[in-house]
Amino acid sequence: MRKAIVAGNWKMNGNSESINELMGTLIASLQDLDAVEALVCPPAVYLSQVKSLIGNASIALGAQNASQFESGAYTGENSPGMLTDLGCQYVILGHSERRAIFGEKDADIAAKFNAAIDAGLVPILCVGETLEEREDERTMAVVGGQLKAVLDACGVESFAKAVIAYEPVWAIGTGKTATPEQAQDVHQSVRAIVAEYSAEVAAGVRILYGGSVNAANADELFANPDVDGGLVGGASLKPNDFIAICRAA
Ligand code: PGA
Repeated sequence: MRKAIVAGNWKMNGNSESINELMGTLIASLQDLDAVEALVCPPAVYLSQVKSLIGNASIALGAQNASQFESGAYTGENSPGMLTDLGCQYVILGHSERRAIFGEKDADIAAKFNAAIDAGLVPILCVGETLEEREDERTMAVVGGQLKAVLDACGVESFAKAVIAYEPVWAIGTGKTATPEQAQDVHQSVRAIVAEYSAEVAAGVRILYGGSVNAANADELFANPDVDGGLVGGASLKPNDFIAICRAA
């Protein structure tokens, strides 16, 4: 009932040539994949290029960030309306790199989430704890806090049009993946938090796992009942790995 999503977060990588090559392989290999929604999130400057490469292939397009503002004097920002104009359907929000390196707070992320929904984009809200927070047994306090900040500000109904990604910070780009049990535990608790607001929305919302997902561990992670696909960084730049991960979902 929940269609799996495998999203590639390319981060700040690639150039016109490498993107042509990567997309060529993905389009040729993902054609028959109906059971899974494959999504690529290139750097914003390459969205138009990727959109035209996709053509009518069934690969969705997403951005890695968006402004909370619609237009105006916000140098360097891209509005959600501009992203839909370029053909984006999704936008990643609250990625741990945005939180840690660029100082985004829960309130900023909630404002962006609202603006994305208003523009017709599907936000992929990232939540996750650091290693220190996990070791202090504060995982659900942190993850729950990040999630409730947006639930309270934007309303649970907006989550009928959103996706959640659980990304433990200690697993991102480290090669250290959460065990299937650790992932399922958090995903189940995340769904339970949404259910405190609406059982119906909780049953329908897709919760992706992210953090060193690769071709070898995707199967066992995606086998969990509350894991509805993945948000993939490093492995999404390697076409064969990304294709294998899509097939595992
Ligand atoms: P990773 O990144 O797969 O390279 O760990 C995941 C992410 O940051 O979304």
